[in-house]
Amino acid sequence: MTATNELVLVINAGSSSIKFSLFEAGAGADPVLLYKGLADGIYVEPKFTAKDAADNKLVADAIPGTAKNHDEALRHMLAWLNGVINGRKIAVIGHRVVHGGVKFSKPVRIDAAVITELEKLIPLAPLHEPHNITPIKILQGLLPDVPQVACFDTAFHANQPELNQLYALPYEFSQQEGIRRYGFHGLSYEYIASVLPQIDARAANGRTVVAHLGNGSSMAALLECKGIASTMGFTALEGLPMGTRTGSIDAGVVLHLLNHLKMDAKQIETLLYKQSGLLGLSGISSDMRDLRSSKEARAKLATDYFVSRIARETGSLAAALQGIDALVFTAGIGENDTETRAEVCAQLAWLGVILDPAANAVRSGEPRRISSDDSKVAVYVVPTNEELMIARQSEACVH
Ligand code: ADP
Repeated sequence: MTATNELVLVINAGSSSIKFSLFEAGAGADPVLLYKGLADGIYVEPKFTAKDAADNKLVADAIPGTAKNHDEALRHMLAWLNGVINGRKIAVIGHRVVHGGVKFSKPVRIDAAVITELEKLIPLAPLHEPHNITPIKILQGLLPDVPQVACFDTAFHANQPELNQLYALPYEFSQQEGIRRYGFHGLSYEYIASVLPQIDARAANGRTVVAHLGNGSSMAALLECKGIASTMGFTALEGLPMGTRTGSIDAGVVLHLLNHLKMDAKQIETLLYKQSGLLGLSGISSDMRDLRSSKEARAKLATDYFVSRIARETGSLAAALQGIDALVFTAGIGENDTETRAEVCAQLAWLGVILDPAANAVRSGEPRRISSDDSKVAVYVVPTNEELMIARQSEACVH
């Protein structure tokens, strides 16, 4: 570590966990990861783990304290970080914030007015936004002199054509109530767009569909590396089925649950967000690894449904792009599950996709092509790096 380069702390906070990554800003170069880790089990049995950049575990311990909240977890994390940075100061803290609404279409330095605006967005992402805001406020108290930056998952999609942002509700709902399609996983798509020119210049200058397949899953259409359409919309519920989320569902089903099955709003929210998707269809697990290793017919039903929806959405996004030059798989399932990739590609043969099975079987942390040389559509696995994207954006925002 050179003592002159600035330290950038990246925070990605959820309801019961806070992930961190500490980067050292390179002069004119990409930030370099030094440490990463997380506090999880925050309201139950808080634990802290940290690793170095080579993935060696440095610490795994219980977080002391009785409050078992985000405040205690952050204090514990900062105490550990202070020990390893040895007197150096953190220059900027970048936060992943799920929803930027209409107002925030790029990273923003956080002040009291920004926090007020972020709080107004809580109804648009009630399960995520409050947990993104909490550590910002706590860190303002703990490190008042360190600038903080909010980096948004919606921002990448902010310049989609209006047609791809609208629902066919009365027009006033989009203008006055902000009920429109925002799209999410934008930090991941932005990272992919940033590395695509080195991987495939034709795709970077043309039409690419990116499938971000993790616990949360979505897809986006990139024209010349800019987002023009996405499967997620107003909330992170639309589009592909996910670990525990339904993905797209007829809004009439929600009315039926409400009016005829007499479920209340909270029960419906839990059903749609927590009990559906791969978990709901399989009755076994939300985790792709469990489903792939299961012999149960419903495990196969769940993965078949997942694959079928990815293939269908690829067709829809290809139509939005008026063609497709490349398909990119990323995130936990996209980067690791060879079967999902093979099954999706098989269903896209009509588009001219031809998989190279040997290339698909390779396990690597590097970007790689998995389609055969004669495939009309080039298919890639590109590991995403949302934390690096936040570090880049935060650094740029304060300079
Ligand atoms: P998150 O949305 O929480 O960031 P991830 O991107 O980490 O999620 O993806 C989690 C998903 O990736 C899980 O369904 C998990 O089963 C899947 N996954 C991770 N590793 C593998 C693997 N080796 N094979 C198949 N699926 C995997």
